[in-house]
Formats: sequence, C-alpha cells, structure tokens
Amino acid sequence: MQRSVQPTSEAIRAGNRARIVDILRRSGSATRAELVTGTGLSRATVSSLIGELAGRGLVSELAQPAADSPGRPPTRLALNRAAGLAIAVDVGVRHVAVAVGDLSRSVLAERWVPVPYGHPAESGMHLVMRSIETALAEAEADRDQLVGAAISIAAPIAPDSGRSLAPGVLPGWNGPELAEQIGRRWGIATIVENDANLGALGESVAAAPHGRDLLYVKVASRVGLGIAFGSRIHRGNDGYAGELGHVTADPEGPACWCGRRGCLELYAGAEGMLERLAGRGIPIGNIKDLILRAEAGDADVLAVIEDGTRLLARSLGALALVLNPSVIALGGELAGLGPLLLDPVRAELAAVPFGAPITVRASVLGPRASLMGALALVLHESGRFAAQACAPPTPNSGRLAAVPAVASRSLQPSSPR
Ligand SMILES: [Zn+2]
Repeated sequence: MQRSVQPTSEAIRAGNRARIVDILRRSGSATRAELVTGTGLSRATVSSLIGELAGRGLVSELAQPAADSPGRPPTRLALNRAAGLAIAVDVGVRHVAVAVGDLSRSVLAERWVPVPYGHPAESGMHLVMRSIETALAEAEADRDQLVGAAISIAAPIAPDSGRSLAPGVLPGWNGPELAEQIGRRWGIATIVENDANLGALGESVAAAPHGRDLLYVKVASRVGLGIAFGSRIHRGNDGYAGELGHVTADPEGPACWCGRRGCLELYAGAEGMLERLAGRGIPIGNIKDLILRAEAGDADVLAVIEDGTRLLARSLGALALVLNPSVIALGGELAGLGPLLLDPVRAELAAVPFGAPITVRASVLGPRASLMGALALVLHESGRFAAQACAPPTPNSGRLAAVPAVASRSLQPSSPR
C-alpha cells in the first residue's frame, strides 16, 4: 500500500524522518524503494527526507558490491554509525551507570560505579558527569555526533517536565537538574524517564520481534511495572501508568507511604519483606542476605517470600487479562530468587483462560535493563529528539553522503533478536 503524505508541519516531518531512521535501524540498510514501501510515504517525500538526513551526516549510501553481477543494483542507504550517538544514564540505589551507544544499537562504552545507599544527589551528579566524560572518551565520540541523552530514575516521572511525581527510592534526585546539566554541557536533548518504563523498552527491543507487547516487572526494594506495547512505552495520562506496587493486596494491611493501606509492594517488595521479618524478630540487613537465607531454606524467610510472590502473581494474572501481553519479564534484585519468584507467576499466568500462552521469564538484560532501555529511548524514539537534532545548523551539516566500504559494513546491526 502506498499513500502520499505531504509534510505540512515540522512535527509531521520530524515524525516521518523518525520512521525512516527506524526502518534503517531495524533492517540495517534499505533502498529508496524499500523506504517508500516501508513508510507509505511518497517517493518525493522519502527522497527529500533522505537528502535532509544525509545533509546532516545521519545517513550514508553504502559502497556498491564488486561488479560480479549483471546490472547495477539499487543504491542501499544506511545509518551513519558515527553520526548518531546516544548517552544513557541509570541512577540506581547503589550504582550510577552510564553507556554510550550508536544508531545500530551497539554499546561503545559502558561504566558502572558503585555508590553508597542513600548517596546525596549533588555528589552523585558530579559522578554522572565525570562518568559520561570518560565513557565518551572511551567511545571516541565527538560532541557533534550526539543525538540525545536519557536518564533512568526510580520514581514516576511527568512526561512533559521530566520531574519526579513522587518520592522515589533516591532521595534528592528529581530528574530535571541532572537533565539540565547534561543538556547544557553537551548541547543535546535530554529526557528523564522512569526506570521500569525503560526496563520494559530495553527488554522489548532486546527480545524483538517476540517481545512486542511486553510487561517488565521490577521487583526490588519496591515494585515497579513498565509497559512497552508495540515497543513503545505506555506512560498513561500523566506518567503514572505502571504503579503496580500500589495495587491493594490487603485493605486491612499496614500503612503505605502512598497514603493507602496494604499495597502490593509492602508484601512483594524487598523493603516490605525485610520489615515483616524484622517485625517477627528476624532482622536481615539487605536483599542479598534475604536471597541467601531463602536459598538456605530458612522457613520464616521462605514463608514471607511465598506470601509476597503469590500476591504479585495474582496481580499479574489480573493485569494479563486486561492487557494481553506476549511476554512478562521479571527484573530487579529480587529476580535473584529465581524459581521462587518465577514459578508462582508462571503458574498463575498459565491459568489465564484466553489467548496464546504468555511467556514469563527473567529479564534477559538483568541489571542493565534500564540502562539499555535509556539508550533505546534515544535511538528508538528518535522522533522526540529529531526536532532538536535537525533544527540548528551544526558543524555536522554537509558531511559527506558516502562512507568507505569498511565503515559501511560496521553499520550493519545484528539481526533482530
Ligand atoms: Zn502504596
């Protein structure tokens, strides 16, 4: 099917540009005809957008293969790896992580720095800025190659302002200050996003095409949920989608910081589990020790864990009926419980009466899910960054449209997993 879309505004044009970038990113390379078919745009519009992207050095013509076949094959276009780099930042409870990746989804540099629990935001921000500088140097990246940056924070985030909507597990970190610093320092669009949302996007992209409609459950100190349907984050009306941790598990239960009683995360999150155990005279210091005690078969610990995972499984069963996902990926530190967490969820989901079986598995990216999701956000939702990326003239403009064959080969992404 082919239809003509006349770009009537910069917004439409940015969206169409992003569709072309998306096809090239997914398929590695494409001819102009394939882009016309893939986008449904007219040939003239595709040519105009390609010209614009090539002018900015974002797209290159691949070198022609050796002439051992008759006729000249149509020119293939690919993303210029060097022209589009993204910065990802993950601010965790006990770590700060930074990655630099390219448009073909390759990670060029990645740094993880452990930080003490409750680390103050101010020193943490310095650490993030230093880590980005080091990672960019490792990746041999130039400032004018950067497309944008995304920051993962463990709190619900307002999609428009990037501001934290509720106290997260990271006191003092509310998002915009760090985004402003990064934006100012490197002159790029910087977006703050909830960690579970990014985990969902990261898992969905990593599992493509099988993880198209994916729920990512982050079971750590608290319980978060990310929804990535069609490999797009679902944020809800004002950024609160995925507050699974505050579904009521027991209306008569203990008070939650959100103002209600008996929220799911008080049972299924590690903080709640540790508190319940402490209340029974069993003090355990941290999640690692909790998992070790469970593995050692401590009956009291196992009882609290079984209670929490049963309630989590029941909530996910209800959610699956509402949302019909293809995959539920369980991540976060409590994913270290392995079958103790996965088995009850699998049993509950196997009992969902409708539709194809839902795959329930541990996160394939593990602790890197939110960081990789942050890279994916810049590279996958490039439309959000494209307006800024294409608006001002930069030293990048006028870059050569053709790149050497060796560089061209490095443009090929691995086939979708
Ligand atoms: Zn609550």
